[in-house]
Amino acid sequence: MHINLEIYSPIHQIKNKLFDEKGIEVFIKRDDLIHPIISGNKWRKLKYLLKRAQAENKHHLVTFGGAYSNHLLATAAAAAKFGFNATGFVRGEEVANDTLFLCRLHGMDLIFTDRESYRDKPALFDKYFGDDADAIFIDEGGASAEGAKGCSELVDELTETYDHVFCACGTGTTAAGIINGIQRNQLPTQFHAIPVLKNGDFIRDEIDKFLTAPADYHLHTSYHFGGYGKTDERLINFIKQFVAETGILIEPVYTGKMLYALFDMAASDYFKPGDRVLAIHSGGIWGLLGMKDKFNR
Ligand SMILES: *Cc1c(COP(=O)(O)O)cnc(C)c1O
Repeated sequence: MHINLEIYSPIHQIKNKLFDEKGIEVFIKRDDLIHPIISGNKWRKLKYLLKRAQAENKHHLVTFGGAYSNHLLATAAAAAKFGFNATGFVRGEEVANDTLFLCRLHGMDLIFTDRESYRDKPALFDKYFGDDADAIFIDEGGASAEGAKGCSELVDELTETYDHVFCACGTGTTAAGIINGIQRNQLPTQFHAIPVLKNGDFIRDEIDKFLTAPADYHLHTSYHFGGYGKTDERLINFIKQFVAETGILIEPVYTGKMLYALFDMAASDYFKPGDRVLAIHSGGIWGLLGMKDKFNR
């Protein structure tokens, strides 16, 4: 099957009193609308990996993730859509949750793996699929040069210029791709990465790995809210208010933290009057399902 998806990722303006007061315009690129399951940056990261699989005549996607991984779910749905088989190695003991339910529903085989063996992913792949010429290794989160290439295309789609672009950051592949796209298009845009993990300074090395040329960008490491998947009342309240005021779903693991950072920086006059700021909605809203209890308090 031809590996293609007509991409629908419009840009919407976010209007509110804060941005009016500060004289800035804030927009959001709706990569969450690309596909209901293969959403946001996960589609962009998979695109060229799937094309390589097809070129190498491999029909079995083998990948890795935690029990709530957006990447596992996106891979399961992409495999189903484009005619691949899929296996996901899931970190930790066997559990059942909404993400894994949706992975299985799309036909993905799940192999639960203790944390020790999970650390060496190539070894796991070799152990189970070393002799299987049909299987292709896809790293956790889709981290890869192909992934960065797919993400760089986001920048090619922009028809207007922005002073700042904001994106949530896990492995750093998406950030690297967007920075590469900004450089390739010779834009004056400053890029801001919001790491969602604690001690996010390490992300700089991860981003730099996939840069096609050295680049300056900003890393804002103080918006992790305690670490990956961690939240607090401030973040949950921010998300509730944002969703209620805009009708745009966001979640606490990635997009909530990124937008919290953008609003917080706007409030503390980080931007100049007249600045145009673009937030990337990188998708992942199914992550909300694993965090329902956080919203019920
Ligand atoms: C996976 C994910 C990210 C992180 O992307 P990286 O390329 O790993 O940095 C950001 N936002 C959402 C919604 C995601 O699912």
